Amino acid sequence: MTQFSRRAFLGWAAMAGLAGTLGCSGNRSKPGKPSLANAKVVVLGGGFAGATAARYLTLLDPSLKVTLIERNSYYLPCPGSNEFITSLPGHKRPKELRFDYKAIKATGVQSVTGEAKGVDIRNRAVLLADGSTVPYDRLIVAPGIDFRWDAIPGYDEEASLIAPHAWQAGPQTSLLRRQLRAMRNGDVVMIVVPQNPYRCPPGPYERASLMAHFLKRHMPRSKVLILDAKTQFSKQALFMQGWKELYPGMVEWISAEKEGRIERVDVHKRTVHTDFGRHRANVLNVIPPQKAGKLAQIAGLVDDSGWCPVDPRSFESTLAPGVHVVGDACIATPMPKSAFAANAQAKVCAAAVVDLLSEREPGPPALINHCYSLLSPEYAISVTGVYEYSPGDKTLVATSTGETPPHGDREREAAMAHSWQALFMKEVFG
Ligand SMILES: Cc1cc2nc3c(=O)[nH]c(=O)nc-3n(C[C@H](O)[C@H](O)[C@H](O)COP(=O)(O)OP(=O)(O)OC[C@H]3O[C@@H](n4cnc5c(N)ncnc54)[C@H](O)[C@@H]3O)c2cc1C
Repeated sequence: MTQFSRRAFLGWAAMAGLAGTLGCSGNRSKPGKPSLANAKVVVLGGGFAGATAARYLTLLDPSLKVTLIERNSYYLPCPGSNEFITSLPGHKRPKELRFDYKAIKATGVQSVTGEAKGVDIRNRAVLLADGSTVPYDRLIVAPGIDFRWDAIPGYDEEASLIAPHAWQAGPQTSLLRRQLRAMRNGDVVMIVVPQNPYRCPPGPYERASLMAHFLKRHMPRSKVLILDAKTQFSKQALFMQGWKELYPGMVEWISAEKEGRIERVDVHKRTVHTDFGRHRANVLNVIPPQKAGKLAQIAGLVDDSGWCPVDPRSFESTLAPGVHVVGDACIATPMPKSAFAANAQAKVCAAAVVDLLSEREPGPPALINHCYSLLSPEYAISVTGVYEYSPGDKTLVATSTGETPPHGDREREAAMAHSWQALFMKEVFG
Protein backbone atom coordinates (compact mmCIF):
# COMPACT_ATOMS: atom_id res chain seq x y z
CA MET A 1 0.00 0.00 0.00
CA THR A 2 1.22 3.57 -0.60
CA GLN A 3 1.69 5.83 2.42
CA PHE A 4 -1.39 7.85 1.43
CA SER A 5 -3.71 4.97 0.80
CA ARG A 6 -2.45 3.16 3.88
CA ARG A 7 -3.13 6.20 6.08
CA ALA A 8 -6.62 6.54 4.67
CA PHE A 9 -7.12 2.82 5.18
CA LEU A 10 -5.86 2.98 8.77
CA GLY A 11 -8.16 5.89 9.58
CA TRP A 12 -11.05 3.85 8.35
CA ALA A 13 -9.74 0.66 9.96
CA ALA A 14 -9.36 2.45 13.31
CA MET A 15 -13.08 3.19 13.23
CA ALA A 16 -14.17 -0.14 11.83
CA GLY A 17 -11.38 -1.85 13.75
CA LEU A 18 -12.96 -1.29 17.13
CA ALA A 19 -15.81 -3.17 15.65
CA GLY A 20 -13.20 -5.57 14.23
CA THR A 21 -15.60 -6.83 11.64
CA LEU A 22 -16.57 -5.37 8.32
CA GLY A 23 -19.88 -7.17 8.21
CA CYS A 24 -21.22 -10.43 9.38
CA SER A 25 -24.83 -10.95 8.62
CA GLY A 26 -27.11 -9.50 6.09
CA ASN A 27 -30.11 -11.14 7.71
CA ARG A 28 -30.27 -9.44 11.10
CA SER A 29 -33.36 -7.29 10.46
CA LYS A 30 -35.52 -9.95 8.81
CA PRO A 31 -39.12 -9.86 10.06
CA GLY A 32 -40.71 -12.76 11.91
CA LYS A 33 -37.75 -13.33 14.24
CA PRO A 34 -38.64 -16.01 16.84
CA SER A 35 -38.33 -14.97 20.51
CA LEU A 36 -35.03 -15.95 22.07
CA ALA A 37 -36.27 -15.35 25.62
CA ASN A 38 -35.60 -18.90 26.74
CA ALA A 39 -32.48 -19.54 24.68
CA LYS A 40 -29.42 -20.27 26.81
CA VAL A 41 -25.95 -19.38 25.53
CA VAL A 42 -22.96 -20.27 27.69
CA VAL A 43 -19.57 -18.64 27.07
CA LEU A 44 -16.57 -20.43 28.50
CA GLY A 45 -13.49 -18.27 29.20
CA GLY A 46 -13.56 -14.57 30.03
CA GLY A 47 -10.54 -13.38 28.00
CA PHE A 48 -10.69 -11.10 24.96
CA ALA A 49 -12.71 -13.60 22.93
CA GLY A 50 -15.13 -14.82 25.62
CA ALA A 51 -15.77 -11.42 27.24
CA THR A 52 -16.50 -9.88 23.82
CA ALA A 53 -18.84 -12.72 22.85
CA ALA A 54 -20.83 -12.46 26.10
CA ARG A 55 -21.16 -8.67 25.84
CA TYR A 56 -22.19 -8.71 22.18
CA LEU A 57 -24.74 -11.50 22.64
CA THR A 58 -26.68 -9.38 25.14
CA LEU A 59 -26.25 -6.29 22.96
CA LEU A 60 -27.62 -8.14 19.93
CA ASP A 61 -30.51 -9.70 21.84
CA PRO A 62 -31.12 -8.66 25.45
CA SER A 63 -33.68 -11.46 25.87
CA LEU A 64 -31.00 -14.16 25.61
CA LYS A 65 -29.88 -15.90 28.82
CA VAL A 66 -26.10 -15.51 28.59
CA THR A 67 -23.78 -17.10 31.17
CA LEU A 68 -20.03 -16.36 31.21
CA ILE A 69 -17.87 -18.94 33.00
CA GLU A 70 -14.36 -17.81 33.98
CA ARG A 71 -12.02 -19.35 36.56
CA ASN A 72 -10.67 -15.99 37.78
CA SER A 73 -12.59 -13.03 39.20
CA TYR A 74 -10.47 -10.65 37.11
CA TYR A 75 -8.59 -10.75 33.80
CA LEU A 76 -4.93 -9.82 33.40
CA PRO A 77 -4.19 -9.10 29.72
CA CYS A 78 -0.97 -9.90 27.83
CA PRO A 79 -1.01 -6.67 25.75
CA GLY A 80 0.91 -4.23 27.94
CA SER A 81 2.92 -7.00 29.65
CA ASN A 82 6.08 -6.41 27.55
CA GLU A 83 6.01 -2.77 28.70
CA PHE A 84 5.77 -3.93 32.33
CA ILE A 85 8.56 -6.54 31.99
CA THR A 86 10.92 -3.94 30.55
CA SER A 87 9.88 -1.12 32.92
CA LEU A 88 8.97 1.06 29.95
CA PRO A 89 8.28 4.66 31.08
CA GLY A 90 4.55 5.07 31.62
CA HIS A 91 3.91 1.30 31.84
CA LYS A 92 0.96 0.04 33.85
CA ARG A 93 1.44 -2.24 36.88
CA PRO A 94 -0.52 -5.55 37.00
CA LYS A 95 -3.00 -4.04 39.49
CA GLU A 96 -3.78 -1.23 37.04
CA LEU A 97 -3.99 -3.66 34.12
CA ARG A 98 -6.61 -5.91 35.78
CA PHE A 99 -10.18 -5.97 34.48
CA ASP A 100 -13.16 -7.38 36.36
CA TYR A 101 -16.51 -8.47 34.95
CA LYS A 102 -18.75 -5.86 36.63
CA ALA A 103 -19.46 -3.90 33.44
CA ILE A 104 -20.22 -7.12 31.55
CA LYS A 105 -22.58 -8.25 34.33
CA ALA A 106 -24.33 -4.86 34.11
CA THR A 107 -25.30 -5.69 30.51
CA GLY A 108 -27.36 -8.66 31.80
CA VAL A 109 -24.73 -11.42 31.49
CA GLN A 110 -24.72 -13.92 34.34
CA SER A 111 -21.11 -14.26 35.46
CA VAL A 112 -19.97 -17.50 37.11
CA THR A 113 -16.51 -17.64 38.72
CA GLY A 114 -15.46 -21.25 38.46
CA GLU A 115 -13.32 -23.83 36.68
CA ALA A 116 -14.98 -25.74 33.83
CA LYS A 117 -13.74 -29.31 33.85
CA GLY A 118 -15.66 -30.74 30.90
CA VAL A 119 -18.48 -30.43 28.40
CA ASP A 120 -21.29 -32.98 28.00
CA ILE A 121 -21.84 -32.38 24.30
CA ARG A 122 -24.66 -34.91 23.91
CA ASN A 123 -26.73 -33.40 26.78
CA ARG A 124 -25.57 -29.82 26.09
CA ALA A 125 -24.16 -28.91 29.50
CA VAL A 126 -20.88 -27.55 30.92
CA LEU A 127 -19.52 -29.42 33.94
CA LEU A 128 -17.94 -27.29 36.66
CA ALA A 129 -15.25 -28.36 39.12
CA ASP A 130 -17.67 -27.87 42.07
CA GLY A 131 -19.91 -30.62 40.61
CA SER A 132 -22.61 -28.33 39.22
CA THR A 133 -23.68 -28.22 35.57
CA VAL A 134 -24.68 -25.30 33.36
CA PRO A 135 -27.04 -26.24 30.49
CA TYR A 136 -26.84 -24.53 27.11
CA ASP A 137 -28.56 -24.37 23.73
CA ARG A 138 -25.35 -23.06 22.17
CA LEU A 139 -21.89 -22.98 23.75
CA ILE A 140 -19.01 -20.62 22.88
CA VAL A 141 -15.63 -21.95 24.01
CA ALA A 142 -12.73 -19.45 24.37
CA PRO A 143 -10.10 -21.00 26.66
CA GLY A 144 -6.99 -19.41 25.07
CA ILE A 145 -3.79 -21.44 24.86
CA ASP A 146 -1.98 -24.20 26.65
CA PHE A 147 1.74 -25.03 26.35
CA ARG A 148 3.27 -28.14 24.79
CA TRP A 149 5.42 -29.00 27.78
CA ASP A 150 6.77 -32.07 26.00
CA ALA A 151 7.98 -30.22 22.88
CA ILE A 152 11.45 -29.07 24.04
CA PRO A 153 13.46 -31.57 26.10
CA GLY A 154 14.48 -29.88 29.37
CA TYR A 155 11.70 -27.31 29.27
CA ASP A 156 8.58 -28.25 31.24
CA GLU A 157 6.30 -26.38 33.62
CA GLU A 158 8.80 -26.74 36.49
CA ALA A 159 11.63 -25.41 34.29
CA SER A 160 9.50 -22.35 33.51
CA LEU A 161 9.86 -21.33 37.17
CA ILE A 162 13.59 -20.84 36.46
CA ALA A 163 13.48 -19.69 32.82
CA PRO A 164 10.05 -18.02 32.49
CA HIS A 165 7.98 -17.97 29.32
CA ALA A 166 5.90 -14.94 30.42
CA TRP A 167 3.47 -15.80 27.59
CA GLN A 168 0.46 -15.80 29.92
CA ALA A 169 0.18 -12.68 32.06
CA GLY A 170 0.65 -13.16 35.82
CA PRO A 171 3.48 -14.44 38.04
CA GLN A 172 5.59 -15.41 34.99
CA THR A 173 5.54 -11.78 33.80
CA SER A 174 6.75 -10.53 37.20
CA LEU A 175 9.48 -13.22 37.34
CA LEU A 176 10.94 -12.21 33.97
CA ARG A 177 10.83 -8.54 34.98
CA ARG A 178 12.76 -9.29 38.21
CA GLN A 179 15.36 -11.32 36.31
CA LEU A 180 15.86 -8.58 33.73
CA ARG A 181 16.31 -5.93 36.42
CA ALA A 182 18.86 -8.12 38.23
CA MET A 183 21.13 -8.37 35.14
CA ARG A 184 24.58 -6.77 35.20
CA ASN A 185 26.11 -4.62 32.48
CA GLY A 186 27.47 -6.96 29.79
CA ASP A 187 25.03 -9.81 30.57
CA VAL A 188 22.99 -11.43 27.79
CA VAL A 189 19.23 -12.10 27.73
CA MET A 190 18.03 -14.78 25.30
CA ILE A 191 14.48 -15.24 23.95
CA VAL A 192 13.66 -18.65 22.45
CA VAL A 193 10.84 -18.34 19.90
CA PRO A 194 8.67 -21.25 18.63
CA GLN A 195 7.42 -22.22 15.19
CA ASN A 196 4.04 -20.86 14.02
CA PRO A 197 1.25 -20.96 15.01
CA TYR A 198 1.53 -19.34 18.43
CA ARG A 199 -0.10 -16.49 20.38
CA CYS A 200 0.88 -13.02 19.09
CA PRO A 201 3.35 -13.66 16.23
CA PRO A 202 5.18 -10.27 16.54
CA GLY A 203 5.15 -10.40 20.40
CA PRO A 204 8.66 -11.94 20.90
CA TYR A 205 10.25 -9.29 18.67
CA GLU A 206 8.42 -6.46 20.45
CA ARG A 207 9.71 -7.93 23.71
CA ALA A 208 13.28 -8.06 22.33
CA SER A 209 13.01 -4.41 21.24
CA LEU A 210 11.73 -3.19 24.60
CA MET A 211 14.35 -5.26 26.42
CA ALA A 212 17.00 -3.50 24.29
CA HIS A 213 15.41 -0.17 25.21
CA PHE A 214 15.74 -1.08 28.90
CA LEU A 215 19.32 -2.34 28.55
CA LYS A 216 20.43 0.69 26.54
CA ARG A 217 19.42 2.92 29.44
CA HIS A 218 20.70 0.79 32.32
CA MET A 219 23.39 -1.64 31.04
CA PRO A 220 24.48 -0.55 27.57
CA ARG A 221 27.08 -3.33 27.16
CA SER A 222 24.34 -6.00 27.41
CA LYS A 223 22.66 -7.74 24.48
CA VAL A 224 19.43 -9.44 23.45
CA LEU A 225 19.73 -12.71 21.57
CA ILE A 226 16.70 -14.15 19.76
CA LEU A 227 16.98 -17.86 18.98
CA ASP A 228 14.21 -18.60 16.53
CA ALA A 229 12.68 -21.91 15.43
CA LYS A 230 11.61 -20.07 12.24
CA THR A 231 13.46 -18.68 9.25
CA GLN A 232 11.35 -15.52 8.99
CA PHE A 233 8.98 -13.58 11.21
CA SER A 234 6.13 -11.06 11.30
CA LYS A 235 7.07 -7.45 10.32
CA GLN A 236 10.69 -8.68 9.97
CA ALA A 237 12.06 -5.90 7.74
CA LEU A 238 10.45 -3.22 9.93
CA PHE A 239 11.77 -4.71 13.16
CA MET A 240 15.27 -5.06 11.72
CA GLN A 241 15.23 -1.48 10.43
CA GLY A 242 14.15 -0.32 13.92
CA TRP A 243 16.86 -2.34 15.71
CA LYS A 244 19.51 -0.82 13.41
CA GLU A 245 18.24 2.70 14.08
CA LEU A 246 17.54 2.44 17.81
CA TYR A 247 19.79 -0.31 19.18
CA PRO A 248 22.76 -0.87 16.84
CA GLY A 249 24.59 -4.10 17.73
CA MET A 250 22.32 -4.83 20.71
CA VAL A 251 19.73 -7.20 19.18
CA GLU A 252 20.86 -10.35 17.39
CA TRP A 253 18.35 -12.59 15.61
CA ILE A 254 19.50 -16.16 14.98
CA SER A 255 17.38 -17.93 12.39
CA ALA A 256 16.62 -21.66 12.28
CA GLU A 257 18.37 -21.61 8.91
CA LYS A 258 21.65 -21.09 10.79
CA GLU A 259 21.05 -23.10 13.95
CA GLY A 260 18.61 -25.81 12.90
CA ARG A 261 16.29 -27.35 15.48
CA ILE A 262 16.24 -26.42 19.16
CA GLU A 263 17.43 -29.73 20.58
CA ARG A 264 17.21 -29.17 24.35
CA VAL A 265 17.27 -26.56 27.08
CA ASP A 266 19.26 -26.65 30.30
CA VAL A 267 17.57 -24.05 32.50
CA HIS A 268 20.08 -24.47 35.36
CA LYS A 269 22.97 -23.57 33.06
CA ARG A 270 20.71 -21.22 31.06
CA THR A 271 21.93 -22.91 27.91
CA VAL A 272 20.07 -23.83 24.71
CA HIS A 273 21.46 -26.65 22.55
CA THR A 274 20.61 -26.59 18.84
CA ASP A 275 21.40 -28.93 15.94
CA PHE A 276 24.57 -26.97 15.19
CA GLY A 277 25.70 -25.35 18.43
CA ARG A 278 24.80 -24.02 21.84
CA HIS A 279 24.02 -20.61 23.30
CA ARG A 280 24.34 -19.42 26.89
CA ALA A 281 22.61 -16.47 28.48
CA ASN A 282 22.29 -14.86 31.90
CA VAL A 283 18.52 -14.53 31.58
CA LEU A 284 16.61 -17.11 29.58
CA ASN A 285 13.06 -16.52 28.28
CA VAL A 286 11.73 -19.65 26.58
CA ILE A 287 8.41 -19.29 24.73
CA PRO A 288 7.35 -22.91 24.18
CA PRO A 289 5.22 -24.27 21.31
CA GLN A 290 1.50 -24.02 22.02
CA LYS A 291 -1.91 -25.66 21.52
CA ALA A 292 -5.54 -24.84 22.33
CA GLY A 293 -6.45 -24.40 26.00
CA LYS A 294 -6.86 -27.63 28.00
CA LEU A 295 -10.66 -27.43 28.18
CA ALA A 296 -10.85 -27.57 24.36
CA GLN A 297 -8.77 -30.74 24.43
CA ILE A 298 -10.89 -32.34 27.18
CA ALA A 299 -14.10 -31.48 25.30
CA GLY A 300 -12.80 -33.16 22.11
CA LEU A 301 -12.73 -29.93 20.10
CA VAL A 302 -9.12 -30.22 18.83
CA ASP A 303 -7.76 -32.01 15.76
CA ASP A 304 -4.27 -33.50 15.26
CA SER A 305 -2.78 -30.00 15.08
CA GLY A 306 -3.78 -29.40 18.72
CA TRP A 307 -6.05 -26.48 17.70
CA CYS A 308 -9.84 -26.35 17.13
CA PRO A 309 -11.16 -26.59 13.56
CA VAL A 310 -14.18 -24.31 12.93
CA ASP A 311 -16.30 -23.05 10.06
CA PRO A 312 -15.44 -19.32 10.23
CA ARG A 313 -18.88 -18.35 8.92
CA SER A 314 -20.15 -18.90 12.49
CA PHE A 315 -17.03 -20.25 14.28
CA GLU A 316 -19.03 -23.45 14.94
CA SER A 317 -16.79 -26.42 15.62
CA THR A 318 -16.52 -28.88 12.76
CA LEU A 319 -16.19 -31.63 15.40
CA ALA A 320 -19.05 -30.77 17.78
CA PRO A 321 -22.33 -29.28 16.50
CA GLY A 322 -23.79 -26.57 18.75
CA VAL A 323 -20.35 -25.64 20.08
CA HIS A 324 -18.42 -22.61 18.77
CA VAL A 325 -14.73 -21.87 19.36
CA VAL A 326 -13.22 -18.36 19.15
CA GLY A 327 -9.93 -16.66 19.98
CA ASP A 328 -6.47 -18.20 20.17
CA ALA A 329 -7.85 -21.74 20.54
CA CYS A 330 -9.49 -21.88 17.09
CA ILE A 331 -7.98 -22.37 13.64
CA ALA A 332 -8.80 -19.15 11.78
CA THR A 333 -5.80 -19.13 9.43
CA PRO A 334 -4.60 -16.77 7.95
CA MET A 335 -5.72 -14.57 10.87
CA PRO A 336 -3.01 -14.40 13.52
CA LYS A 337 -3.67 -15.35 17.14
CA SER A 338 -4.16 -11.86 18.59
CA ALA A 339 -6.51 -10.06 20.97
CA PHE A 340 -7.75 -7.95 18.07
CA ALA A 341 -8.55 -11.07 16.04
CA ALA A 342 -10.18 -12.75 19.08
CA ASN A 343 -12.46 -9.73 19.51
CA ALA A 344 -13.42 -9.68 15.81
CA GLN A 345 -14.10 -13.43 15.75
CA ALA A 346 -16.22 -13.21 18.91
CA LYS A 347 -18.48 -10.59 17.33
CA VAL A 348 -18.97 -12.65 14.18
CA CYS A 349 -19.70 -15.67 16.36
CA ALA A 350 -22.18 -13.81 18.61
CA ALA A 351 -24.10 -12.56 15.56
CA ALA A 352 -24.10 -16.05 14.03
CA VAL A 353 -25.32 -17.64 17.27
CA VAL A 354 -28.26 -15.20 17.36
CA ASP A 355 -29.00 -16.05 13.71
CA LEU A 356 -28.80 -19.80 14.27
CA LEU A 357 -31.03 -19.65 17.35
CA SER A 358 -33.50 -17.66 15.24
CA GLU A 359 -33.31 -20.31 12.50
CA ARG A 360 -31.59 -17.93 10.09
CA GLU A 361 -28.51 -18.68 8.02
CA PRO A 362 -25.57 -16.48 9.15
CA GLY A 363 -24.22 -14.23 6.40
CA PRO A 364 -20.61 -14.57 5.18
CA PRO A 365 -18.31 -12.56 7.49
CA ALA A 366 -15.41 -10.19 6.82
CA LEU A 367 -12.98 -9.52 9.65
CA ILE A 368 -10.06 -7.21 10.41
CA ASN A 369 -6.89 -7.63 12.42
CA HIS A 370 -4.58 -4.75 13.28
CA CYS A 371 -1.48 -5.30 15.43
CA TYR A 372 0.86 -2.63 16.79
CA SER A 373 4.35 -3.40 18.07
CA LEU A 374 6.31 -0.93 20.18
CA LEU A 375 10.08 -0.73 19.64
CA SER A 376 10.38 2.13 22.14
CA PRO A 377 7.82 4.41 23.84
CA GLU A 378 7.91 6.71 20.80
CA TYR A 379 8.49 4.20 18.00
CA ALA A 380 5.88 1.70 16.80
CA ILE A 381 5.07 -0.31 13.69
CA SER A 382 1.90 -2.11 12.72
CA VAL A 383 0.35 -4.62 10.37
CA THR A 384 -3.23 -4.84 9.11
CA GLY A 385 -5.19 -7.61 7.44
CA VAL A 386 -8.72 -7.91 6.05
CA TYR A 387 -10.12 -11.45 5.86
CA GLU A 388 -13.16 -12.61 3.92
CA TYR A 389 -15.08 -15.88 3.96
CA SER A 390 -14.54 -18.29 1.13
CA PRO A 391 -17.76 -20.40 1.01
CA GLY A 392 -16.25 -23.07 -1.28
CA ASP A 393 -13.66 -24.32 1.17
CA LYS A 394 -15.19 -22.75 4.32
CA THR A 395 -12.03 -20.85 5.25
CA LEU A 396 -10.91 -17.25 5.58
CA VAL A 397 -8.88 -15.60 2.83
CA ALA A 398 -6.72 -12.46 3.30
CA THR A 399 -8.13 -10.00 0.76
CA SER A 400 -6.05 -6.99 1.81
CA THR A 401 -2.93 -6.49 3.92
CA GLY A 402 -0.71 -3.54 4.78
CA GLU A 403 2.05 -2.54 7.14
CA THR A 404 3.90 0.59 8.24
CA PRO A 405 5.78 1.90 5.19
CA PRO A 406 9.62 2.14 5.49
CA HIS A 407 9.42 5.93 5.95
CA GLY A 408 6.12 5.97 7.90
CA ASP A 409 5.69 8.13 11.00
CA ARG A 410 6.76 5.79 13.86
CA GLU A 411 6.02 8.35 16.58
CA ARG A 412 2.45 8.75 15.39
CA GLU A 413 2.07 4.97 15.26
CA ALA A 414 3.30 4.81 18.88
CA ALA A 415 0.66 7.35 19.96
CA MET A 416 -1.98 5.30 18.11
CA ALA A 417 -0.71 2.08 19.74
CA HIS A 418 -1.10 3.56 23.24
CA SER A 419 -4.60 4.88 22.55
CA TRP A 420 -5.65 1.63 20.84
CA GLN A 421 -4.74 -0.32 23.97
CA ALA A 422 -6.85 1.90 26.25
CA LEU A 423 -9.85 1.98 23.87
CA PHE A 424 -9.69 -1.72 23.16
CA MET A 425 -9.82 -2.70 26.85
CA LYS A 426 -12.93 -0.51 27.22
CA GLU A 427 -14.46 -2.10 24.14
CA VAL A 428 -14.00 -5.62 25.56
CA PHE A 429 -14.49 -5.19 29.32
CA GLY A 430 -16.65 -2.06 29.37
C1 LIG B 1 3.46 -10.58 25.41
C2 LIG B 1 2.18 -10.54 24.63
C3 LIG B 1 1.75 -9.35 24.07
C4 LIG B 1 0.57 -9.31 23.31
N1 LIG B 1 0.19 -8.14 22.73
C5 LIG B 1 -0.89 -8.09 21.94
C6 LIG B 1 -1.26 -6.88 21.28
O1 LIG B 1 -0.62 -5.84 21.43
N2 LIG B 1 -2.36 -6.91 20.48
C7 LIG B 1 -3.10 -8.03 20.29
O2 LIG B 1 -4.09 -7.98 19.53
N3 LIG B 1 -2.77 -9.20 20.90
C8 LIG B 1 -1.69 -9.27 21.71
N4 LIG B 1 -1.35 -10.45 22.35
C9 LIG B 1 -2.15 -11.68 22.10
C10 LIG B 1 -3.37 -11.79 23.03
O3 LIG B 1 -2.98 -11.71 24.37
C11 LIG B 1 -4.10 -13.12 22.78
O4 LIG B 1 -4.26 -13.32 21.41
C12 LIG B 1 -5.48 -13.08 23.48
O5 LIG B 1 -5.28 -13.06 24.87
C13 LIG B 1 -6.38 -14.25 23.06
O6 LIG B 1 -7.61 -14.12 23.74
P1 LIG B 1 -8.46 -15.41 24.17
O7 LIG B 1 -9.71 -14.89 24.77
O8 LIG B 1 -8.52 -16.36 23.05
O9 LIG B 1 -7.57 -16.14 25.28
P2 LIG B 1 -7.18 -15.63 26.74
O10 LIG B 1 -6.96 -14.18 26.73
O11 LIG B 1 -6.06 -16.49 27.21
O12 LIG B 1 -8.47 -15.93 27.64
C14 LIG B 1 -8.84 -17.24 27.97
C15 LIG B 1 -9.62 -17.19 29.28
O13 LIG B 1 -10.24 -18.45 29.50
C16 LIG B 1 -10.12 -18.78 30.87
N5 LIG B 1 -10.21 -20.25 30.99
C17 LIG B 1 -9.46 -21.17 30.33
N6 LIG B 1 -9.81 -22.42 30.67
C18 LIG B 1 -10.81 -22.29 31.57
C19 LIG B 1 -11.59 -23.24 32.31
N7 LIG B 1 -11.39 -24.56 32.18
N8 LIG B 1 -12.54 -22.77 33.15
C20 LIG B 1 -12.74 -21.43 33.30
N9 LIG B 1 -12.03 -20.50 32.66
C21 LIG B 1 -11.08 -20.92 31.79
C22 LIG B 1 -8.78 -18.20 31.28
O14 LIG B 1 -8.68 -18.02 32.68
C23 LIG B 1 -8.73 -16.90 30.47
O15 LIG B 1 -9.27 -15.82 31.22
C24 LIG B 1 -0.20 -10.51 23.13
C25 LIG B 1 0.23 -11.70 23.72
C26 LIG B 1 1.41 -11.73 24.45
C27 LIG B 1 1.85 -13.02 25.08
